[in-house]
Amino acid sequence: MIQVRQLTKSFGNLHVLKKIDAQIKRQEVVCIIGPSGSGKSTFLRCLNLLEEPSSGEVLIGGANIMDRQTNINAIRQKVGMVFQQFNLFPHKTSLENITMGLIKLKKCSKAEAEEKGRKLLEKVGLSEKADVYPRNLSGGQQQRVAIARALAMEPEIMLFDEPTSALDPEMVGEVLQVMKNLAQDGMTMIIVTHEMGFAREAADRILFMDQGTILEEGTPEELFNHSKQERTREFLRKIL
Ligand code: ADP
Ligand code: MG
Repeated sequence: MIQVRQLTKSFGNLHVLKKIDAQIKRQEVVCIIGPSGSGKSTFLRCLNLLEEPSSGEVLIGGANIMDRQTNINAIRQKVGMVFQQFNLFPHKTSLENITMGLIKLKKCSKAEAEEKGRKLLEKVGLSEKADVYPRNLSGGQQQRVAIARALAMEPEIMLFDEPTSALDPEMVGEVLQVMKNLAQDGMTMIIVTHEMGFAREAADRILFMDQGTILEEGTPEELFNHSKQERTREFLRKIL
């Protein structure tokens, strides 16, 4: 589904991603862990062209996203993204936050968009909150609306960048549960997270990033219990 070859990204003299190779299979759930500043967010952002890679290749469903012929908006619809900060529109209700993209980008009628939006709210457990504004939702509820909004575009891949890091501890579980359900439905997902319990349970594979490279990868069992790299073990000791 995703092929990354020799991907590099630099900001001026700062070499943030150094020749990254990675492959993500359809329906695979991959968690990315690693220290702050190691390039995790930049890597995700390169996959949907929020950042332009400096060199290398990113193929999504076989199409090179850096080709001039490739339609950036089409890529962004195919690859949904959820951020640490939920970025909901404050002056729109939950339902409107979800239907906006459907009406503007997918050219749905208002009625069609609302029907779809309500189904998505149900999927994330927020049927009751359709007409509520973000300021009257908890952080966990806002993040679930953000997930529903991303799903509205019917992405083939979902990227999550520390989706629970801005949440109070008691709200982390409800968001992780929505993500687990998505994984069970067969969504292809890449998730940057510090939630090691979630990674262990939900990930098919874990990538450990360090200083702009994927230093080690493996199943949760391999990475958490039989890591080969001292840097990985050191990171896990600190975080667990
Ligand atoms: P992580 O998500 O693993 O914490 P990031 O990908 O956010 O790491 O950042 C990796 C490095 O790239 C950091 O040193 C960060 O300061 C730098 N960086 C990220 N985005 C930019 C940018 N737009 N301009 C300059 N430097 C950036
Ligand atoms: Mg980050």
